[in-house]
Amino acid sequence: MKDWEKNVRTVVPYVPGEQPKEKNIMKLNTNENPYPPAPGVAEVLETFDADRLRLYPDPLAADLTDALADFYHVDRNQVFAGVGSDDVLAMIFLTFFNSRKPVLFPDITYSFYDVWAEMLRIPYEQIPLDHDFFIIPEDYKKENGGIIFPNPNAPTGRLMELSQIEEIIQANPGVMVVVDEAYIDFGGVSALPLVDRYDNVIVVQTFSKSRSMAGSRIGYAISNPCVIKYLNDVKYSFNSYTMDSVTIALGVAAVKDKEYFEKTVQKIIQTREWTKEQLRALGFLFADSQSNFIFARHPKVPGPQLFQALKEEKIFVRRFGKPERIADYLRITIGTDEQMQKLVKFLKTYLMEQET
Ligand code: PMP
Repeated sequence: MKDWEKNVRTVVPYVPGEQPKEKNIMKLNTNENPYPPAPGVAEVLETFDADRLRLYPDPLAADLTDALADFYHVDRNQVFAGVGSDDVLAMIFLTFFNSRKPVLFPDITYSFYDVWAEMLRIPYEQIPLDHDFFIIPEDYKKENGGIIFPNPNAPTGRLMELSQIEEIIQANPGVMVVVDEAYIDFGGVSALPLVDRYDNVIVVQTFSKSRSMAGSRIGYAISNPCVIKYLNDVKYSFNSYTMDSVTIALGVAAVKDKEYFEKTVQKIIQTREWTKEQLRALGFLFADSQSNFIFARHPKVPGPQLFQALKEEKIFVRRFGKPERIADYLRITIGTDEQMQKLVKFLKTYLMEQET
């Protein structure tokens, strides 16, 4: 080891899902939306005046936070926007999880949480989900330096009742409770109303899934103005111009088209329910997902084997090797009807071949 290496902030980085270059694959591995963004987004792209790029973007992304504030009926100073919810969540870890007590999150959850905690040297404790992948609110009633969980949880897809979230918030008035709602639009009830009732709640959402804009990188947090001010102070101390002017304009166009948003989300929900029926009929086991993916295993085929078979068929899904109890599960993103029909058809044939 060289001397300077002793001073390196070593980290084990988050591993994002594969983004294969091949064209003719079915990409069901990173929970992207199979439908294009709202038509207004393409219009902005076509008409954006390149001369605007001479200037720095608005560091507050006020056009976007205003559009979001209108959409969610909150005040503009209750919204913080960032480069995907990953950026927003990282800023939240940096700002609010600044204690010597452990931050609590589920043992099976978004695998970026422990990476941020490790990188920022934040102590943390992973709280086991129950046997059916439910979060147990009672387990979050102990001394801690903050709490974060997705609702619905990822990669399980399990939704928590709002009353249970409220129970966790009420039991923890001294710390920030962060509800990561990356998938809430696909059937869950948002914790947004709780932001008015408690001063220690942050709700985080993203344009990457329900608004079909993973490539643009837009995420946001909604909380009370005091929390948003603390977040902005840290953001301005790190990188004030996070979102670029093109993305801000694209985001505004997406938020303004509520009808398109609701239509595509409904379509994905329909396709998900159809896919659940089909998978159930094939013997798959899974929690009742309320998101745009299904986290399933087949009792007769080990996870790695099925993952490989799908890959050879050019169907990409996601598998997490750890912890051990999810080693046989595959997380399958809901695509178009046609994609799901192809998936089910392949699985049917493959499972039949395994029987003989
Ligand atoms: N939270 C959860 C639970 C997720 O699954 C993801 C997607 N990987 C994110 C946050 C981050 O999404 P993005 O940065 O694209 O907004």
